[in-house]
Amino acid sequence: MRVGFVGLGNMGGPMCGHLVSAGFDVTAFDLDDAALARLVEAGARAAGSAADCAHGAEALITMLPAPPHVEQVLLGEGGALAALEPGSIAIDMSTSSTAVGARVVAAARSRGVDVLDAPVAGQSIGAQAGMLAIYVGGDEAVFARARPLFEVMGDPERIFHLGSNGAGYTVKLLLNLLWFIQSVAVGEVLSVGARAGMSLDKLHAALVGSPANSVFLERDVRMVLDDGDYDEAFPMRLVTKDLGLAVDLARDAGVPVELTGLVEQIHRRARAQYGDDAGQISAVRLYEDLAGVTLRLGET
Ligand code: NAD
Repeated sequence: MRVGFVGLGNMGGPMCGHLVSAGFDVTAFDLDDAALARLVEAGARAAGSAADCAHGAEALITMLPAPPHVEQVLLGEGGALAALEPGSIAIDMSTSSTAVGARVVAAARSRGVDVLDAPVAGQSIGAQAGMLAIYVGGDEAVFARARPLFEVMGDPERIFHLGSNGAGYTVKLLLNLLWFIQSVAVGEVLSVGARAGMSLDKLHAALVGSPANSVFLERDVRMVLDDGDYDEAFPMRLVTKDLGLAVDLARDAGVPVELTGLVEQIHRRARAQYGDDAGQISAVRLYEDLAGVTLRLGET
């Protein structure tokens, strides 16, 4: 299958690399020459633009930072969608919005091009391992045609067809929202406990063994608690982008989300304090600084 791939960053680079290794005929593009050069070295053909990448492709994959980039690459002047042949598939794997997705679907339909939204979870480690979880929205028959591509980039057990166009974006935004709510909740609870004089080791073990346990508490926050690592593999600029999209989603759905609004603002504060490229668990650092504690296991 001939595949075009636009957006070769932390996620798209390794994802595209797996497609090349699996024997797909891949043409790639990124505004960053160094990122493109890495994929050419791996065996992809270089395109001079996103539209160039789409020419002759049976599937065009985009893995871009945010909705404006997706809209510009697919629908902007000289956009890639107009270069796709009828019967081909445009697959956006970025964490983007249902609003931009709907505009892409409308434009694609008039040209006989199929569309899937297929955002992912699993971080750059999952992308490198080819073991991402993939959340797909779109026609089931189109999903079946694209599945061989997904199986190369993702964990076959965690490739989910979730409904019509937009369902993939919706589930991805909601799962990120839940994780980032837990990040704030765990940072708050552990900081209060530490400040109240609890041994962090004992408090953490007791919470993990309680009905209040979560994957975030038991596993993910351990990066901070064991190593002081706030996980720069996913930067705060993308965290706040995703939370803003979750707020938009809730507004469009007509549901008041006071907690989500507050949690979004706490992460925005962490971004302002520690920088755009600070790690995704920086909200916990915010609580450590507010409480004047350092949350590390084995130190009490
Ligand atoms: P990134 O910033 O590392 O990479 C994005 C790439 O897109 C860059 O190489 C950039 O040069 C390129 N790009 C931007 N505009 C372009 C354009 N107009 N034309 C061509 N190339 C362009 O981002 P990432 O970490 O790879 O994330 C990509 C998407 O995946 C985001 O939507 C993100 O939210 C989502 N995501 C990221 C992670 C993660 O852990 N990093 C996990 C799950 C989902």
